[in-house]
Amino acid sequence: MAIPSLATLAVAPIPSLSDEVNQIRLDTAKIVSEHIIPNEGNFAGELPETERQALIMELRTHVKESNLWAPHLPKEYGGMGIGFLGHAYMNEILAWSPWSNTIFGVQAPTSGNQTVLIKYGTEAQKKKFLEPTISGEQTSCFSMTEPDNAGSDPRSIQTTAVRDGDEWVINGRKWFTSNGQNAAWALVMCRTEVEDEGGDVNSKMTQIIVPTDTPGFHIERSVPVWGHVSGSHCEITYKDCRVPLENQLGSRGTGHAAAQDRLGAGRVYHCMNCVGQMWRAFDLMVKRATERKVHGGMLEDKQFIQGFIADSYMDIQASRLMTLHCAEIIDSGGDPRTDISSIKVFVPNAMHRVVDRAIQVHGAMGVSGDTPLAGMYLGARTLRIADGPDEVHRILIAKNVLKRYHDGLSWDFGV
Ligand SMILES: Cc1cc2nc3c(=O)[nH]c(=O)nc-3n(C[C@H](O)[C@H](O)[C@H](O)COP(=O)(O)OP(=O)(O)OC[C@H]3O[C@@H](n4cnc5c(N)ncnc54)[C@H](O)[C@@H]3O)c2cc1C
Repeated sequence: MAIPSLATLAVAPIPSLSDEVNQIRLDTAKIVSEHIIPNEGNFAGELPETERQALIMELRTHVKESNLWAPHLPKEYGGMGIGFLGHAYMNEILAWSPWSNTIFGVQAPTSGNQTVLIKYGTEAQKKKFLEPTISGEQTSCFSMTEPDNAGSDPRSIQTTAVRDGDEWVINGRKWFTSNGQNAAWALVMCRTEVEDEGGDVNSKMTQIIVPTDTPGFHIERSVPVWGHVSGSHCEITYKDCRVPLENQLGSRGTGHAAAQDRLGAGRVYHCMNCVGQMWRAFDLMVKRATERKVHGGMLEDKQFIQGFIADSYMDIQASRLMTLHCAEIIDSGGDPRTDISSIKVFVPNAMHRVVDRAIQVHGAMGVSGDTPLAGMYLGARTLRIADGPDEVHRILIAKNVLKRYHDGLSWDFGV
């Protein structure tokens, strides 16, 4: 892929941040701008596969030696231990390139699975399933959404896990299980209700770890997304798939809560990635505006284009500050649910607008494969559906706000 006139990744220390976080940002910017962005064509397939893999491994080693591996994980699990806020400040730089996530060891869906295994996993599960993903030897997938039931209402899932002796027997059909083809194991959301048992539907869901080489785990196909099959968003049947009872994650009935934990963290990571990508799209757009001559003048002198720049600046800074604020709430132990839903709606939509303007400024080149913009555009659009569609998050925001007013309180934007 020809990367046109890349601007530098301009990162200066932020006065209000600690020296540690500023250094992390500078070190990350150096690796992303010197080693990752110049190699994007190679990562995308210009190199033969063995050389491509070797390059990725070499850069991962460099990242580990620079103490920048797994920013989302605590130190005791081999991560950086910088919390959500430190991660957010680092990730807005890291996400300049879509290839950074795998090189820095913070790759969805495995990153989300790691978060829940740390919280809900037994020591044996951590050893067997979590550790190989942290070292980078294995990846995983999360298998919840089903073709015949509304993914936006996870309580509607019909995949069952029935206890038989010391095993769970799983039957069902899932789709859009991202990374299904490469994963060593899947976290599968199952209905484990027992007949006549009381409790609400949330208490009938359990997540179970299923190694992908288990008999009965069958990938039907990789569902094409935006015309591409390479995303590995798999449709999978689970047919009498037997795993030991100890593969159950947490106690029975905690599947819904674990999914919310996983998706909550995952949504914030997605938004951090959006901020970094928007920043790069903005950079490409402004640079192009200063270089491209149209109708006897530079693009930058046209007021339409100046409007694009100003509107994009506002979209990015608003997204960035909302995401940082949300990370701050999580780190301080507050209730982040309203803010997670807010950024999950606002940030991908803002990214959609910013990238759309950047594409427009680039003309035909903007929709070509010669810039990363087309990929960013599709990613932003997809995020308005994945991990819960916009409408569901809007409903949640309104519900939380209204509840406070019904409780005789008002909304406090300061916490
Ligand atoms: C690229 C991609 C990757 C994905 N990866 C994974 C994965 O790894 N694992 C996994 O389990 N799932 C994954 N998903 C699935 C994703 O989480 C679901 O698609 C999403 O939750 C929406 O579910 P659905 O597609 O069944 O849409 P539905 O639930 O059928 O909803 C369809 C539409 O109805 C509207 N809608 C829904 N509820 C309401 C409401 N209450 N009020 C008004 N309108 C409403 C929304 O506009 C919504 O888009 C992925 C999806 C995509 C596109």
